[in-house]
Amino acid sequence: MNSSTALPRRVAVLGATGSIGGSTLDVIARHPDRFRASVLTAHSNVAALADLCIRHRPDLAVIADPTLEGELARRLLAAGVRCDIASGHEAITHAVSGSLCDTVVAAIVGAAGLDSTLAAARTGKRLLLANKESIVMAGPLLLEALAAGGGELVPVDSEHNAIFQCLPGGRPNLASSGVRRLILTASGGPFRGRSRAELAGVTPEQACKHPNWIMGRKISVDSATLMNKGLEVIEAHHLFGASPDAIEVLVHPQSLVHSLVEYVDGSVLAQLGNPDMRTAIAHALAWPARVEAGVSPLDLAACAPLAFEQPDLATFRCLALAFQALRAGGDAPAILNAANEVAVEAFLAGGLPFLGIADLVESVLTELPAQAVVDVQTLNERDRAARQAARRILRNAC
Ligand code: NDP
Repeated sequence: MNSSTALPRRVAVLGATGSIGGSTLDVIARHPDRFRASVLTAHSNVAALADLCIRHRPDLAVIADPTLEGELARRLLAAGVRCDIASGHEAITHAVSGSLCDTVVAAIVGAAGLDSTLAAARTGKRLLLANKESIVMAGPLLLEALAAGGGELVPVDSEHNAIFQCLPGGRPNLASSGVRRLILTASGGPFRGRSRAELAGVTPEQACKHPNWIMGRKISVDSATLMNKGLEVIEAHHLFGASPDAIEVLVHPQSLVHSLVEYVDGSVLAQLGNPDMRTAIAHALAWPARVEAGVSPLDLAACAPLAFEQPDLATFRCLALAFQALRAGGDAPAILNAANEVAVEAFLAGGLPFLGIADLVESVLTELPAQAVVDVQTLNERDRAARQAARRILRNAC
């Protein structure tokens, strides 16, 4: 919203039933004069989507699974909610491109969010990017779409949002801004400090118990393996134009310093705050203004001394693999991402040990060497090939 008389921003919340979706809707509900949730989408959690529609009264609700459209309609009719209903992935992309929203929160998990994220970029709307997998897969294509659409991307991932806040003008040319390095902080996840032997038998429940953040299961496992940080390194490369050598990862167990920017004069700027995604979401929704987010103030005096340490790349190999994929270039990050999604799914289903996640990702990267990124269609074919390779390797290992 540009002035006190402007209409509220109409926000499409993709992945509304998820962790980021819920935090976004919480911020939106605090500022009805500034923001309105005009489109809500989910995959298959029809009960949760219906509840959100009852609470937030969007213009359109989209359920990705078409077999659930009837049930969504019945639930909304019973609750007296009058909003349009659609289903299928194309309906999500269509909603993003249409006139019902001017802001899109891309918070679908995984590669399933790619098409809608690209569509939002092409339309020139404000894109709040949480779905890191889409920029990891298709960084150059997403940047092209953004440039063609003329819209703005504000990162929601807390590390990238922190960097955005520490850079002059958000996403400048790093070299001419005097930036030497971007320093991404990582909590280290629930298994920080453990040896490989100690990780051999860890369960999905243990992996999903993050010490500082409450998140969806996929990103929780990614945090435990440090693949999440690896994906974020690739995301930072694309968002800020930083070379792999200019991106450092530091483990910071308290998750209070969300990331830092080091300048050539020795200055290091950091963004701090309690670990609550509503800060980054509120910043991205209101930018360049600031709005209250419901987050408790940071009490620095009460915090234990802030600690930083180097990540253990030999134990948490996924981070090293992500750097390797970034350096290989082309579609290697997309191959990494696809293999990781299959591996995490298998781990969560009890079909792969925790340490097997990195092994599987490495095998797929070896089997499918990097190719140039040409277009979305080719990228989707490579994504499929990587998933097939990962599933075959998994089957053969059983
Ligand atoms: P959740 O698992 O909590 O939520 C995922 C959302 O995506 C749900 O609304 C789900 O719908 C929807 N969804 C899942 N699969 C599909 C599909 N095939 N088509 C359409 N919609 C789908 O995830 P998070 O909120 O934790 O994460 C969302 C994204 O944000 C991820 O990319 C993650 O990496 C990123 N992120 C998350 C952070 C966090 O704190 N959680 C922090 C920074 C980034 P349904 O409920 O119906 O299954």
